[in-house]
Amino acid sequence: MKMRFNTLDTFANSIEETIQTDVSLATYNTFRFDYHAEYFAIAETLDSLKVLLRWAKHFNQPVTMIGGGSNLLISASIPGLVIINRLAGMSAREQVGNLVSLTVAAGENWHEVVKYVVNEGWFGIENLALIPGTVGAAPVQNIGAYGVEVKDVIARVQVIDKCTGDVYWINARDCGFAYRDSHFKGKWKDTLLITSVELSLKKQAELLLSYGGLSDRIQGEPSLADVFQAVCDVRNEKLPDPNVLANSGSFFKNPIVSTSQRNTLKEHFPNLVSFPFEDGYKLAAGWLIDQAGWKGKQHQGVGVYEKQALVLVNYSESKADALLALEDNIKHSVYALYGVELEREPVQLPVRASKKDVFLETSH
Ligand SMILES: Cc1cc2nc3c(=O)[nH]c(=O)nc-3n(C[C@H](O)[C@H](O)[C@H](O)COP(=O)(O)OP(=O)(O)OC[C@H]3O[C@@H](n4cnc5c(N)ncnc54)[C@H](O)[C@@H]3O)c2cc1C
Repeated sequence: MKMRFNTLDTFANSIEETIQTDVSLATYNTFRFDYHAEYFAIAETLDSLKVLLRWAKHFNQPVTMIGGGSNLLISASIPGLVIINRLAGMSAREQVGNLVSLTVAAGENWHEVVKYVVNEGWFGIENLALIPGTVGAAPVQNIGAYGVEVKDVIARVQVIDKCTGDVYWINARDCGFAYRDSHFKGKWKDTLLITSVELSLKKQAELLLSYGGLSDRIQGEPSLADVFQAVCDVRNEKLPDPNVLANSGSFFKNPIVSTSQRNTLKEHFPNLVSFPFEDGYKLAAGWLIDQAGWKGKQHQGVGVYEKQALVLVNYSESKADALLALEDNIKHSVYALYGVELEREPVQLPVRASKKDVFLETSH
């Protein structure tokens, strides 16, 4: 059902914005769960986004932004206004020396931007090829793959304040970037939306091949395009295409543990896969889940992907209950075996109390 917000004609006059009510989000999340948005709109320009935010403020409605829906676990209908981000546009500025600044609107598709950048011969994001979703969501969880995180190339992020409509830039160093984390996922999650991202790329740089078996695939002196292609090939082999089998990529973060905890685990599990990280170690969550016997297991219409235990897939469910139950079972079993807590990577919508407390209570 469509509803024009005539009451706001005073400030929405020039923009033919339409807000729909009770819209299914099944095609707006890669798990394909079928919950509804109370109000729904697509923002294609910054001006239309501003009008939508003013509408939400006027009617006291919470605002949720969705990009590609590839890092979401929607588990109930979403109250308030859901805005699909389709802000478009890109501009490049050559800097003196080795640098190129690329400013990209937040609704652009991330992989298309990587393709464009590699075509131009600019270095910095080739290892982040084929990550689904939008440019605006990339800083939210500081996307990463094959030894590169997007924070390595972000110069600054443009945001809009949901409440005041103010638009301004925040320097990368102030964004709280960490492993699959940033202030956009934390203290700014209720107040700021990302509208544009400025990347700082290089005209010449070293290629990084030391992760995920990339070097095994490339003979001789690799070019930028070779690395891009190798990343796409590995990912296509290992990860399910969400257009074919619903999923949201890695469902759990790699747990970070102290050196002593890792060493104790290594004594009991000599094949444990771990990498030095800051003061301790990152454990490969996929290995923990695989060794606990979950790879390929199914529960109702969902399951653990047969080629990569870190990925949960949805074969046939329209609601999230079976997936939430599977998640709990995996967490319990991994905790019982290794004493390690797994943390979910995708964002649950609508935002609700964490299940962590419940989990801790039942696991002791
Ligand atoms: C097959 C597959 C492989 C994947 N591989 C990787 C990988 O290698 N590395 C990795 O890091 N991730 C990976 N992901 C996860 C996902 O692709 C990324 O997190 C991506 O950046 C999500 O983008 P999106 O536009 O789909 O975000 P959405 O899922 O739409 O949103 C994610 C969160 O960000 C918020 N958000 C979205 N846009 C904005 C905005 N403009 N401003 C503020 N908040 C916003 C949303 O409200 C939500 O909380 C993978 C996912 C899939 C399905």
